[in-house]
Amino acid sequence: MNKNTEVNIAITDIGEDGVGIGKVTEGPDQGYTLFIKDTVPGDDVRALVVKAKKHYGFGRMLEIRKPSESRVQAPCPISRPCGGCQLQQISYDMQLKLKEQKVRNDLERIGGIAHVDGVMLPAVGSTQQFRYRNKAQYPIRAGKDGEPIAGFYAGRTHSVIPCTDCLLGPEEYADILERILRWMRDNHVAPYDENSGNGLLRHVLIRKGFATDEIMVCLIINGRKIPAAQDLVEKLSSISGMVGITVSSNTDRTNVIMTNSAEVVWGRGTITDILRSEKYGVEVAYHISPQSFYQVNHDQTEKIYEKVLDLAGLHGTETVMDLYCGIGTISLFLAGNAAKVIGVEIVSQAIEDAKANAIYNQIKNVEFYVGKAEEVVPVLYGQGAHADVVVVDPPRKGCDEKLLDTIIHMRPKKLIYVSCDPATLARDIKILAEHGCRLISAQPFDQFAQTIHVETVCLLTRKA
Ligand code: SAH
Repeated sequence: MNKNTEVNIAITDIGEDGVGIGKVTEGPDQGYTLFIKDTVPGDDVRALVVKAKKHYGFGRMLEIRKPSESRVQAPCPISRPCGGCQLQQISYDMQLKLKEQKVRNDLERIGGIAHVDGVMLPAVGSTQQFRYRNKAQYPIRAGKDGEPIAGFYAGRTHSVIPCTDCLLGPEEYADILERILRWMRDNHVAPYDENSGNGLLRHVLIRKGFATDEIMVCLIINGRKIPAAQDLVEKLSSISGMVGITVSSNTDRTNVIMTNSAEVVWGRGTITDILRSEKYGVEVAYHISPQSFYQVNHDQTEKIYEKVLDLAGLHGTETVMDLYCGIGTISLFLAGNAAKVIGVEIVSQAIEDAKANAIYNQIKNVEFYVGKAEEVVPVLYGQGAHADVVVVDPPRKGCDEKLLDTIIHMRPKKLIYVSCDPATLARDIKILAEHGCRLISAQPFDQFAQTIHVETVCLLTRKA
């Protein structure tokens, strides 16, 4: 294949970043693989090869010869430059199919699972395909005329595209942002400038409890205090559901958004949200502070946690370990059906939240430990701790091998792996499978509609 060749391509898949992947359909280069932006699986396109490697290349779309039946109009006007939603131009049915395909492929190719068809369960779609995100973080910068703007980084850059109404978040966030921008203009509050390190307001974080309708705003500032706090309170406190305004100081010149503390300017420092399972008679209320990790899609989270209960099959007699427990969301959700739950999490503030949430819900059979799961669990195991069921919910990089090793030695009856990255999930399952574990089921859950991300819940047991 040579650069600048024009070819016809049938798009069949998408890559990590949502870019279409297809093969040349005719001519001497038939079968050659090309990555082409802005295409959708099912499209037949004409493309110009802009970069050709031995086994694959990159093309630019010239014309859609026949559009895919899965092609839809992206509802968000900035979906392309923003890049936060890679799949808006793909029908929701196809989005789910692609996510299923990704999990299946990774389990097969990276995980070496030969019986994938026997374990894959159909993807569980999101009840809300837009407006499902309870948390939004908007960078604040100066616009072209110097006026403050809120928006999103244009894919992989540091320039901000103005947008106060992300279609993944609640509708009222736009009003909140507009009021904050007005407060900035009225009081000459300078937006942050990354290049000089000057300016005050860096980011606005907004969170909403979908079960309670409680809303909190946190301003992340390059300084210690905000001016005209009273005016900000007057502008925001009248918004329906607003329960707290906080300020978090971050004067470091880094990309990290949040620091560890937030000071209350008005109202409360936390919102409450509730997760329920009717099937298991569970109802847990969580206090969430601005800096805590909390799942972004409320309804899907309830489905995932209920699935964890389905797979755990608890009778009230078991000891459960919830590793990478965050603010103890899964621990507390499971506690009513177990004898004891042990939660482990690296962020100490999250463990403080977990303990407070246990007390708030009058749940007494939980213990929480701060530390790396791969360091704490071997120590606990060394001291004689055991679990009948282990739940892991690691960040994208997956589990540390030392942790997997301890789990293999501990021999829990069941291991439930909740994953936000199918590739590291598959890598870890391969290690577990080499040491006597068997993958029983894998089910994708769509926590992040319109994006390429996919959550997967797996059950592993000991081989007979
Ligand atoms: N189970 C929780 C949180 C999952 S997110 C929930 O459903 O809400 C993953 C969590 O793992 C984060 O809270 C992160 O702080 C934590 N974490 C990251 N690395 C860790 C490690 N090595 N050991 C323990 N926890 C870790």
